[in-house]
Amino acid sequence: MEKRTYIGDLSQHVGESVTIMGWVSVRRDQGKMVFFDFRDMTGSVQGVVLPKSAAIETAKDVRVESAVAVTGLVNKRPEKNVQEGKQNGDIELQIERVEVLGAAATLPFELGADLHLETHLDNLPLTLKTQRSRDIFHMQSSILDAYRTSLKLQGFTEFVAPALVGGDAEGGSAVFKVDYFNDKTAYLATSPQFYKQIMVGPFERAFTVAKIFRAERSATTRHLSEATCMDFEMGFIENEKEPMRVLEKTIKDTVKFVAEKHADIFERFHTSVPLVPDEIPILTLREAQDILGVPHEPDMEPENERQICEWSKKEKGSDFIFITRYPTKKRAFYTYEDPSESPYSRGFDLLFRGLEINSGAQRIHDHDTLVARMKERGFDPAKFVFYLQAFRYGMPPHGGSSTGLERFTARMLEIPNVKEATAFPRDMTRIDSRLSEAPEFES
Ligand code: ATP
Ligand code: MG
Repeated sequence: MEKRTYIGDLSQHVGESVTIMGWVSVRRDQGKMVFFDFRDMTGSVQGVVLPKSAAIETAKDVRVESAVAVTGLVNKRPEKNVQEGKQNGDIELQIERVEVLGAAATLPFELGADLHLETHLDNLPLTLKTQRSRDIFHMQSSILDAYRTSLKLQGFTEFVAPALVGGDAEGGSAVFKVDYFNDKTAYLATSPQFYKQIMVGPFERAFTVAKIFRAERSATTRHLSEATCMDFEMGFIENEKEPMRVLEKTIKDTVKFVAEKHADIFERFHTSVPLVPDEIPILTLREAQDILGVPHEPDMEPENERQICEWSKKEKGSDFIFITRYPTKKRAFYTYEDPSESPYSRGFDLLFRGLEINSGAQRIHDHDTLVARMKERGFDPAKFVFYLQAFRYGMPPHGGSSTGLERFTARMLEIPNVKEATAFPRDMTRIDSRLSEAPEFES
């Protein structure tokens, strides 16, 4: 096989014969000529098969999305055909040979057409190849990179959290059961919470990118049955402000990174780089409710979350806003409450463009207080002995937070449904295929 040249390097090979490998994005028949757009991981280029080319017969059967190896001459385009500002807009491949490495069947719809979300999800092995999906998951990959890098630079060590657990971390949230050895029931983790708290012991600052599984029967644009969270936890804090500052720095670093790397993606999504001021605004739940003129409920309705984000953007120039001081009874059982601040907790949420993307808190670090809180909530401390060991052997005051990767990605590009920002989403109605229908096999 000839040496492969990447499409992104073609401009350095004008006048030479090269072989590229990639997919057919577009095919246009024009009289006896066939035009193609090819793409590989480095970009795209136009190619033409002239009537006299040896490739003309093969070219007749090459369908869109086929994987091909193409040999041809890299030509400069005549001045009048140059497409300014487009990658390889000044060159064209004069095709001499096309080898089909993997033929594509006739597509069920035009790739890139506006599809119903369910149709998009039914056909992911195909639809993930669209420019739109590739953009979303490039963005997601960069968010993961930047988030990790930022935390590492802030002294955090990454660890791998388990997905199979013996109990339910949040105590009481809806959980998927798994048949385990010894006639035991195991559960799919709803959060890496306990494990990251335990990892404060060895590392002081620890983080994990973990799968979480939620069995809530929620059919919304923001809930998945399986989600990815970026969780950190840190020791020796005075209050929740310290994890909030770490999170703020991580968010700022991430936004800066994707702004520099993905200007073109923001443009294609007709959105702009999120606004992050030097200090993300902070409101207590009550302050937020007073601004919106709504009653002092113990939690925020999604509609109010949207409104307070609009306020934050308009008044504070920020697409992010922290909400603090939720009533303790509305937060997870391990959330710290200072007696002088009762009945409010040291928990916080971070909202981004109308949606909660993160929850965090200072946690209870005193063993007996934690056990007392468990009992108050009706949990049996005997079920938590493994976790409680951490509190028997020197647990400092600590706190942390958890950011949902899919929600963060979705809001970054202002995608309305979090499922589109998940490569392979699981929800109440599907695991890859729809649960209600047996998929048809087409030979
Ligand atoms: P919500 O109240 O919106 O259902 P939550 O408060 O139950 O979310 P947390 O337990 O605080 O969620 O989880 C931390 C973060 O993980 C959330 O802020 C969110 O970004 C993400 N997350 C949690 N559950 C889901 C889910 N079912 N689907 C997608 N992302 C989720
Ligand atoms: Mg939350």
